[in-house]
Amino acid sequence: MADINIGVAKEKVEAKGFLDLEVDPQLDLFNEIEKMKKEKNAIVLAHYYQEADIQDVADYIGDSLGLAQKAEKTDADIIVFAGVHFMAETAKILNPHKKVLLPDLKAGCSLADSAPPAAFKKFKEQHPDHLVISYINCTADIKALSDIICTSSNAKQIVESLPPDQKIIFAPDKNLGSYLVKKTGRDMVLWDGACMVHEIFSLEKIMKLKVRHPEAKIIAHPECEEHVLKVADYIGSTTGLLKFSQEDPAKEFIVVTETGILHQMQKSSPDKTFIPAPPDNGCACNDCPHMKLNTLEKLYLCMKYELPEIKMDETLRQAARKPIDRMLEISARYGL
Ligand code: SF4
Repeated sequence: MADINIGVAKEKVEAKGFLDLEVDPQLDLFNEIEKMKKEKNAIVLAHYYQEADIQDVADYIGDSLGLAQKAEKTDADIIVFAGVHFMAETAKILNPHKKVLLPDLKAGCSLADSAPPAAFKKFKEQHPDHLVISYINCTADIKALSDIICTSSNAKQIVESLPPDQKIIFAPDKNLGSYLVKKTGRDMVLWDGACMVHEIFSLEKIMKLKVRHPEAKIIAHPECEEHVLKVADYIGSTTGLLKFSQEDPAKEFIVVTETGILHQMQKSSPDKTFIPAPPDNGCACNDCPHMKLNTLEKLYLCMKYELPEIKMDETLRQAARKPIDRMLEISARYGL
């Protein structure tokens, strides 16, 4: 592939959201990415739902909480975020002076999209005496309208950190919200949003799998619907599920979340069997179409041209930072 100039590269990103360029199939992309990391003082942060090759080349793999903490602490000049848009935005909110890159700007999130800022602002105005706790899976605009951010790793502690009589709006995930209502006994007002991946698991197919694998433990993410969570042996964040799979003596697990996490589970427990829970469609496993927009080629091109870059209005960034800082403070207090 002949190199293109930066102007042409920017035009390509504007047109498609990513650098739609041919990559020489002979190129050792792992090696090239490693070289660029050193040359550019860049760090690659990857979410557990990324494809296996991206996880293998990442400097850090984690869930939303771990990634936000890592993004806050890094001294790299460039953060390459292999995840979806709201995650890269969070890294930018925490690092205004660093370049934050996302291999494909179209890597969105159905859950984040389920809370349009104007409608959410109105909803908030209807509950003036409520504080807003928002799950990190939301846009910078929703973060700016929130009092505290949480992730699935710290949500329970964040809710419990508020006085018992404090009225709370929880957004945008109604499934995580109703799980937290049960866990904490707090009566929260829930925004009606959901994740397209965690909402379509088939309970019937999961139970059929359980009949075929009676010893398997069902482990599920709290973004799943209540009827699925009811049959789970363990419910936890992505990191929580990984940890449970490492520590629990069971040899088989039916994993009810996005399939990307199976790569780390299998790597850290090669003697165990991990079965992806099937969704309620024709497929056998459940991939997030947004997360999977990132590829190793796009990651390579994004590092080479330092595009697409996340840009953010400074007033919005400062407003979105406050609730994230509150989350990081509370998480540190609880040792999370
Ligand atoms: S798995 Fe769900 S919450 Fe996560 S990025 Fe995909 S759509 Fe969003």
